[in-house]
Amino acid sequence: MKKKILLLYTGGTIGMIKNQETGSLEPFPFHDIYTHLPMLNLLDAEIIFKELHPLIDSSDTNPAFWIRLAQEIHNHYAEMHGFVILHGTDTMAYTASALSFLLENLAKPVILTGSQLPLGVMRTDGRENILNSVEIAADYIGDQPRAPEVCIYFENALYRGNRTYKDNAEQFHAFTSSNYPKLAEVGVNVKYNENYIHRPGNQHLILHTEMDDNIAIMKLYPGITSNLISTIFQTPGLRAVIMESFGAGNAPTHQEFLALLKKYIDGGGIVVNVTQCKGGGSVELGKYGNSFHLANIGITSGADMTTEACVSKLMYLLGQGLTNEEVKKWIQIPLRGEMLSTLEVNELIS
Ligand code: ASP
Repeated sequence: MKKKILLLYTGGTIGMIKNQETGSLEPFPFHDIYTHLPMLNLLDAEIIFKELHPLIDSSDTNPAFWIRLAQEIHNHYAEMHGFVILHGTDTMAYTASALSFLLENLAKPVILTGSQLPLGVMRTDGRENILNSVEIAADYIGDQPRAPEVCIYFENALYRGNRTYKDNAEQFHAFTSSNYPKLAEVGVNVKYNENYIHRPGNQHLILHTEMDDNIAIMKLYPGITSNLISTIFQTPGLRAVIMESFGAGNAPTHQEFLALLKKYIDGGGIVVNVTQCKGGGSVELGKYGNSFHLANIGITSGADMTTEACVSKLMYLLGQGLTNEEVKKWIQIPLRGEMLSTLEVNELIS
C-alpha cells in the first residue's frame, strides 16, 4: 500500500515567477504540481497536494500562519503517513521551530523544504528537494516512520527543524544545524543518523493554538545605549526579551546596563540569554566574570538554543497561561529536542 503524503504549498521561491512590471520574484499558484514536476508520479507514495492561500513570501509568516499550518497537519493527521511543506527559506527555521512546539507528541514526519531557485528554472534545486522530502516522509519500516519529527530537508540533508537557521542566501546549501547532528544524509542511499532521531511514545497528538507574541529580540553590540535598552523594556505589554549576547553568554558589566535588566526582571519581565555565535556553542552563565552577574539578577539561560527556536518556544510557553516562574523553568528544559538536556551536557563533558 502506498503511503499517503500531504504536500502543502505555502509559497516561497520554489513556486515564484518574476512580476513582469517590477521584475521581482513573487509567489505563483501551481494548481497542479504534477504538471510542474511529473516525476512525482514515479514515487512510491500517494501525494495529496494542497495550496494554502494567500501564497506568501515567507517574510510574511507570523504566529497566526504557524497555527494555521499546525491545524492543517492536525486535521489530516489520522489519514496521512507524512507531511511535506513547501515554504520560503527566509523564515523556514522559525516555522519549523514553531510547528515543533505546537504539535506535541508528533509521531509522523513533517518535512519543510523549498529552494533557492524556482521550480521553473532549469538549474533549480527545488526538484531534488521536493522528491527527496516526499521519499523521506513516506519512508517507513513496518508501521514506524524513519523520521517522525518536524524536519527541514535541504541540499541532501535532513535536519531537526528547531535546530536549524538559514545561513546562506546564495548557495544551495542554505541551512545549518550547528549544535545538533544531521538526522539523515542523502547520497546514493538515505543514511539515517538513528541515534539522533527522536522516537515518540504512543501518546496522542496534541495541537496547541495559543501563542503570545509580546516578546522582543535585543542583540547586544559594543556601544548599545542604555536609552535603547530602556526603550525596549518599556514596550507596553512586553513579557519577555531574548538577549543575544556575546560568546558563551557574556554581556557588559556597567551598572546602568545591569540596573536596567534588573529593573525589568524585578518588574515581572523575562530575559533569556542566547548566544550570537551561530556556528556552535552554548550560553554558560558564570563561565566568565562578564556573565556571572547575569544569573544573579535573574537572567535565564537559553543554553544552546537558536534564536529562531527561542522565539517560538517563548511565544508558545507564554501562550499557555503559565506563571513567569514556570515559563523560566520550561525555557531551560528541552521540550522538542530544541536544546541539549543537562543529562546530555553532562555526557558530553564526561
Ligand atoms: N523570499 C523567499 C521566501 O522566503 C526566499 C526563498 O524562498 O528562498 O519566501
